[in-house]
Amino acid sequence: MFVLDTHCDTPTLLIKGMDLGKGAPDGQVDLAKLKAGGVDASFFALYTSAELSPEASTTRALEMLASIYDAVGQYPDQVAIATSPSEALANKEKGLISILIGIENGSPIQKSLSLLRLFYRFGARYMTLTHNGDNEIADAAMEGKRWGGLSPFGREVVAEMNRLGMIIDMAHVSDLTFNDVLACSKSPIVSTHSCCRALANHPRNMTDDMIRRMADKGGVIQINFYPVFLSDSYAKAYAESGEKATPKPTAEDVVRHIDHAVNVAGIEHVGIGTDFDGIEVTPEGLEDVSRLPIIFDLLRRKGYSEDQIEKIAGQNFLRVFNDVISNSL
Ligand SMILES: [Zn+2]
Repeated sequence: MFVLDTHCDTPTLLIKGMDLGKGAPDGQVDLAKLKAGGVDASFFALYTSAELSPEASTTRALEMLASIYDAVGQYPDQVAIATSPSEALANKEKGLISILIGIENGSPIQKSLSLLRLFYRFGARYMTLTHNGDNEIADAAMEGKRWGGLSPFGREVVAEMNRLGMIIDMAHVSDLTFNDVLACSKSPIVSTHSCCRALANHPRNMTDDMIRRMADKGGVIQINFYPVFLSDSYAKAYAESGEKATPKPTAEDVVRHIDHAVNVAGIEHVGIGTDFDGIEVTPEGLEDVSRLPIIFDLLRRKGYSEDQIEKIAGQNFLRVFNDVISNSL
């Protein structure tokens, strides 16, 4: 089985000096935890807050990128960068965990396709077009006021990402942005870390219709572990009492979202994007990435076959990744 987590925010800890080999006291991802979780590959996000100016976000993203290369350079016998499915599979053969790079929030490319290409050359293989605020590229789910979807520059970004073979990530964008990207992207699109709005009515989650249309185009939804996206009752309690809110969602709730997405979109179109190190609360029993196998055990108990579990664990996203690359050639 090849296990791929398509979203974690571990670089936010790396730039504060965390040693990937030693981890941090409240860190959710480090080398020991990745190994214990059976993780073969993990996308590390270059996350920048919508609060930063575009110039400051470029600097921050570059710092994160540098911190990833430094961390990988420090443990060459345990991890390696991967920029394609074939590299990730080759790393596994060598006993290495792959670190892949994604950009979370397109703000660091400012209004420059050259900067987009530079981040691609540095190894970034997906870009989440926005974070919680509207930017030069598109409107965000949590704001959605500036463009009514994709901006004219955003259309150029989509075309250039298609040409480069870079995966377009719909996590965080508004529904109107989603519609625009779905209509103009020549390649399949994904969400690297979202849940199902039919089960938890949060604007960051995707409706069944969105999940289905994304799948019809060959894409995949990677289910997020953030308790606020998993459960409406928890989200309400969290709004009132913050991190102390109880009861917390569990691994069963994550599996409920996976199972729902499978029912809506089919087994070929669902995966896992934990959002670890980007979430201040975690489901009960899923405190860090070492607990990931619990999800596969629960799917087994639900009657999923090993073949189906392998698809969710990583094969589906790897297929989309390959499709995006081959469409670009
Ligand atoms: Zn995110």
